[in-house]
Amino acid sequence: MPKNYCSAKNLKTPERGEPVQSHTNRNFPLRRALPGLLIASVIGCGDRSTEPAPSDSPLSLVLISIDSLRADHLRCYGYDRATSPRMDALAAEGVRFDNVTSTTSWTLPSHAALFTALPDSIHGCDRNSRVLAPERTTLAEVLREAGYTTAGFFSGPYLHPRFGMAQGFDSYESCAGYEMYSEQSLRSSQPNQKPKGQNRAHGLAHSDITSPRIVDSVKTWLKQRPEGPFFLFLHFWDVHYDYIAPEPFGTMFDPDYTGPEDGRRLSNPARLEGIAERDLQHIVARYDGEIAWTDHHIGKIIDLLDSAGLRDQTVLAVTADHGEEFFEHGQFGHHKELYRESIAIPWILRAPGLPPDVVREPVALVDIAPTLLDLLDLPPLQVVAGRSLAPRLNHQSWQPSDYRLSELVRLKKGNLASLRTEDWMLLLQPEPLEWKALFDLKQDADETAAIAKDDPRWRTAEATWKRAQEHLDRLRQAHELSESSEGGALNTEMEEQLRALGYLNDQ
Ligand SMILES: [Zn+2]
Repeated sequence: MPKNYCSAKNLKTPERGEPVQSHTNRNFPLRRALPGLLIASVIGCGDRSTEPAPSDSPLSLVLISIDSLRADHLRCYGYDRATSPRMDALAAEGVRFDNVTSTTSWTLPSHAALFTALPDSIHGCDRNSRVLAPERTTLAEVLREAGYTTAGFFSGPYLHPRFGMAQGFDSYESCAGYEMYSEQSLRSSQPNQKPKGQNRAHGLAHSDITSPRIVDSVKTWLKQRPEGPFFLFLHFWDVHYDYIAPEPFGTMFDPDYTGPEDGRRLSNPARLEGIAERDLQHIVARYDGEIAWTDHHIGKIIDLLDSAGLRDQTVLAVTADHGEEFFEHGQFGHHKELYRESIAIPWILRAPGLPPDVVREPVALVDIAPTLLDLLDLPPLQVVAGRSLAPRLNHQSWQPSDYRLSELVRLKKGNLASLRTEDWMLLLQPEPLEWKALFDLKQDADETAAIAKDDPRWRTAEATWKRAQEHLDRLRQAHELSESSEGGALNTEMEEQLRALGYLNDQ
């Protein structure tokens, strides 16, 4: 099946049933809008020292994903600790999306959704035995098709090429320190091929410190990159447990703690059951230290771009794949539930000529790729769930989507899905259908007090779920895979290694 990019004029957005604008008809190519935006920014916001890129020069793109970073632990999202000075500064000069929902609460499907703008049940990479099918069209593929040099640097297991994540990248390199994901292993990274360097991965992924390697890799790559526009994807892993940031970051938010927790041994949730509140506080402080450590390295990336003269030629987006639970709903970590702490992610955007803004309307992770392509004035991905927010950024007519969908495959406990509108969150088991709970997000943002079943809002929520199902059916028809490409189960060795890393403890 050939790759398809959107060229038809009558493609539909299945979610809203309205025609998708062809990219040639859109009226928000960022570069062409620069003069007006710059005038607005000068009048409205004062200090902007940037100069626009030449009007005929394509913008480059840097997309950063920070693993396990929940939005509400960043200062610019209201947190009381100074975890994120560099991201705060980026948000202050760019756009901060205040209310972003991930498609799920774990790494593999959310990155597949980030790359394809599809929900997990449609891109199909929704359990750890799955691989993102080659037929799926990714952000990197669209950019490479458009003449961009594409490069990715990743540092966590599920971003490995074995999961199909390297699609569209001219180069895609590991910054992980453990042998399973070493350069040697990557060279033998065909699906279902026995990886080299087994049995040394146990325990190493969670204790790996990778951010400096990403910075070094980017520094080298920027110097050696070919002429022309580029797409650089960076996956930062260190915020993912264990929480072992080097000092002074590791203990900076709880230096006086003398208890047994040191940010390690966190992949075994049973160990943490009944943990004392003070010890949990320290674990959270260690998590925050990892954020500060990672923020420090995000700052280095920003400095590298700016010092290379790329500031005015590059769209820079920082986001996350999912959040992290600290027993808000009885569990620790992620890949367990779909409550806010697991799926509310940050998204910060800086683009030449784009004035500072805060988007408070609810948006979704699947909106990121369509928005970035729109900002670059490139063709959109074919029929997807996400949609460009560029009209919103340009203060044009725009309506938030009706709901945001999150999904979670749980092989033992039963699958979960959630729908979020501005007013409520519906939690359910999709098949067989079992309504779990409904929460009033206006009164109960923490999603702790379920609305009674006889409340009329239940009828609205159930009807919205029905519409969501119809939307998924339409997407499914548009993205049906050939039988031969479905799944792509991992080989036994890979499964064993992932199990050793604590990744196959299916819920
Ligand atoms: Zn993750």
